[in-house]
Amino acid sequence: MAHLGAAADGPADSRASRIGVFVCHCGGNISDVVDVERVAAEAARMPGVVLATAHPFVCSDPGQALIEEKIRELELDRVVVAACSPTLHQATFRRTIDRAGLNQYLFEHVNVREQVSWVVEDREAATRKASRLVRAAVARASHLVPLDRRRIPIQPSALVIGGGVAGLVAARDLARRGMKVTLVENRPFLGGRMAQLHTLFPTGENARDLLAGLIQETVREPRIRVLTGAHVIGSEGVVGDFRTRVRLEPRGVDEHLTYPGNAIAACPEETINEFDFALSRRKAIYTPTPAATRRCRPSTGARAPAAASAWPRSAGRGSTSRASPARSSCTPASSCSPPATTPTSRSTASMATGSSPRS
Ligand SMILES: Cc1cc2nc3c(=O)[nH]c(=O)nc-3n(C[C@H](O)[C@H](O)[C@H](O)COP(=O)(O)OP(=O)(O)OC[C@H]3O[C@@H](n4cnc5c(N)ncnc54)[C@H](O)[C@@H]3O)c2cc1C
Ligand code: SF4
Repeated sequence: MAHLGAAADGPADSRASRIGVFVCHCGGNISDVVDVERVAAEAARMPGVVLATAHPFVCSDPGQALIEEKIRELELDRVVVAACSPTLHQATFRRTIDRAGLNQYLFEHVNVREQVSWVVEDREAATRKASRLVRAAVARASHLVPLDRRRIPIQPSALVIGGGVAGLVAARDLARRGMKVTLVENRPFLGGRMAQLHTLFPTGENARDLLAGLIQETVREPRIRVLTGAHVIGSEGVVGDFRTRVRLEPRGVDEHLTYPGNAIAACPEETINEFDFALSRRKAIYTPTPAATRRCRPSTGARAPAAASAWPRSAGRGSTSRASPARSSCTPASSCSPPATTPTSRSTASMATGSSPRS
């Protein structure tokens, strides 16, 4: 994918910037509300600004020609355009300054239409807001450095944070498009808010049935790795090349106990039940809903389904011990040691340790 890096020639030069500011009327879309002449005049007083002017339609051919002409004539080395949303014309103006021989990333785009004239009614307030945005852009422009495009290989993988209905759908859809997905949910169970609902408006669907189907689709999808009881503790990198560290909580009960019934009964720890907003209490080994347990098998080495991770929460949080974090077999709660670890995921790829809690 295309990626930006500092151009080989590094920062432009050490002399003071020569900034040109162009404020657009947008044929009245902006100037009917914002005093564009005053915005330009206030920008003109800023250090480094050698030209600040208003124009009826900056994106028009004459408007772009003016920018090109002034870059050459005044040796501008930074350009600020105050106009509509960058999604509309940022690329237009980058091409414009590129044609004039200036690195296209020495450009700042200020949105004074959608973010000012279309949303602020009072002329004075709108003008003040536009002026502050433009002056901030001018200040930023003086710190811009030339960039060039580079190509870097990327892994077609994605990290989805949050195993609510939105995260489940995102993970499923990405996987269907061929991407490897790691779904990280910080609670021990998938489902999020919807797991607490009954009948959904407006369709009348049963929330748990809908969710159960979605969870099964997700956990059965071979391209998706589900990590419940998992916390993102750091992420670094750039678009297309992120490395994310995830800490896994203990999530298992194993051995001879028949999970979940006997394990829950044997568990001596009790705490508030946050699933129903502390209206009741629960054991440290618990399941929040019947749907969360229905595919669980208790034998040693069996994998608990993502929707059914029993989690001795009271024993596990914040530990730094290095035991395997992803066992989904059972340990009586009284001996619930708190394993945790910090596996690393490169560019959202699979975790270094820990098995997926699929059934
Ligand atoms: C009382 C009530 C009734 C509602 N009724 C309806 C209805 O009838 N119809 C309807 O369509 N909608 C309804 N909604 C709205 C619907 O429940 C939500 O829009 C939907 O559940 C939101 O899903 P989500 O995945 O975006 O977020 P959530 O369900 O909140 O899921 C977010 C998930 O991300 C996890 N998470 C958060 N931060 C992190 C992190 N840093 N790392 C890892 N995991 C993280 C959370 O633990 C959670 O599991 C209702 C909501 C409420 C509260
Ligand atoms: S640059 Fe944007 S704000 Fe200016 S005239 Fe064109 S569309 Fe309107």
